[in-house]
Amino acid sequence: MDFAFDDRTHELRGRLLAFMDEHVRPAEATFREQEEVAVATGREWERVPVTAELKAEARRRGLWNLFLTGKSAEAVRKWEAATGATHSHLPDPPLTNLQYAPLAEITGWSPALAPEAMNCAAPDTGNMEVLAEFGSPEQQERWLRPLLDGEIRSAFCMTEPAVASSDASNIATTIARDGDSYVINGRKWWSSGAMSSDCKILIVMGVTAEATAGDGHSHRRHSMILVPRDTPGVEVKRGIYVFGYSDGHHGGHAEVEFTGVRVPKENLIAGEGEGFAIAQARLGPGRIHHCMRQIGAAERALNLMCKRAASRTAFGKTLAEQGHYQEAIEELKKAGNFTSEPNATIGYVYGRMGRTLEAHKVIADLQDQLKKGYVAATNFATVYIGLGDKDQAFAWLEKGYQQHDFWITFLKGEPIFDSLRADPRFQDLVRRVGFPQ
Ligand SMILES: Cc1cc2nc3c(=O)[nH]c(=O)nc-3n(C[C@H](O)[C@H](O)[C@H](O)COP(=O)(O)OP(=O)(O)OC[C@H]3O[C@@H](n4cnc5c(N)ncnc54)[C@H](O)[C@@H]3O)c2cc1C
Repeated sequence: MDFAFDDRTHELRGRLLAFMDEHVRPAEATFREQEEVAVATGREWERVPVTAELKAEARRRGLWNLFLTGKSAEAVRKWEAATGATHSHLPDPPLTNLQYAPLAEITGWSPALAPEAMNCAAPDTGNMEVLAEFGSPEQQERWLRPLLDGEIRSAFCMTEPAVASSDASNIATTIARDGDSYVINGRKWWSSGAMSSDCKILIVMGVTAEATAGDGHSHRRHSMILVPRDTPGVEVKRGIYVFGYSDGHHGGHAEVEFTGVRVPKENLIAGEGEGFAIAQARLGPGRIHHCMRQIGAAERALNLMCKRAASRTAFGKTLAEQGHYQEAIEELKKAGNFTSEPNATIGYVYGRMGRTLEAHKVIADLQDQLKKGYVAATNFATVYIGLGDKDQAFAWLEKGYQQHDFWITFLKGEPIFDSLRADPRFQDLVRRVGFPQ
């Protein structure tokens, strides 16, 4: 399979990187402050205001619902054509998974903000896919429409504390037909997003037909049903923590009890016994999206590691100049085909180590990426600083300033720029960027 980026992927990566530089990363500090206020004021599970601003900007830039690929994108387009709705703002034609994956990777650089800003955050993504592919027209009108619009959020309630849920044939919550209704009883946990008051709808998986031992029907017993979060009998009990993190801004991961919860029979998705087929369709692309974001998060960690190694000194040398760090960075470089920023930091480290050939190879890589899309000018400056070429470094910083490159704001405190600080050109840049010196 050819994993090379096509022209469309390059163009979208450029747009997304610019959005990350100009809006997402600058919003991270605000996000942390707003999150602290939310926790202090008893709003731990709610979205913070900066998210809404980012969503508006992402939509304005056409970076909205890009996760909808393949069959689910087709289904949304069909639904929009039939109903005259235009909520998805889908690109035409929609992306393929191969085109979307490198975009998901970039959003992983800021996982708390970027995916939601673009309406590409789990579990809503998978839930929209379910509704698009398997929902009735009424279900789509009521729930898919506001989800595509980013107006509400949703949760997926499959996992249960009482059974090993990695084998979903164990799921034991019951969904029993009673006249024109279904009645749901059971206990779920890890229902991501359900703590938030923005979460309006739950997709619940449960048993609609009893198992008959040995009849081979263990994958036809389960169904999925839509349960509005405010239905009597639904009790969202608590948020569960992962290594001490609540993921509160994301609506947490809730334990939810269902006691005699009654919903109309029309809330069943697709049909009785279809739960497994839907679950498989839902989890496929969703897991890949998580993996791609994880790669982006790892790239950011590597970048931070390189910067730290380049700026901290032990026994008269920076950490980067100590043998075991060089080895580690070398291994990591071999392992990944990184986005421009970690590449630039690695180039900086090469420069400092006197490995000029490798540093110039990084510059050539950046030039190559620049031809195909977007690379922040400051990334070039970073490598030239490592090489000790101040003229080139200032030329690229000047470009960064002209292009409103977000990284230029790091001039203030970033140790990588220390070797330039005494130069009058640095003072001039800092004055124009507007920081106190
Ligand atoms: C952050 C987070 C968010 C989540 N969000 C949701 C959500 O929104 N909705 C939802 O329904 N669920 C969600 N989950 C739950 C998740 O899908 C389940 O934890 C997962 O399916 C495993 O089920 P379990 O916890 O019952 O583990 P168990 O099934 O009890 O598994 C226990 C252990 O057995 C191992 N194991 C299982 N099968 C095998 C095998 N075949 N070979 C080797 N080892 C095996 C597992 O690796 C695990 O270590 C979330 C979980 C987390 C951590």
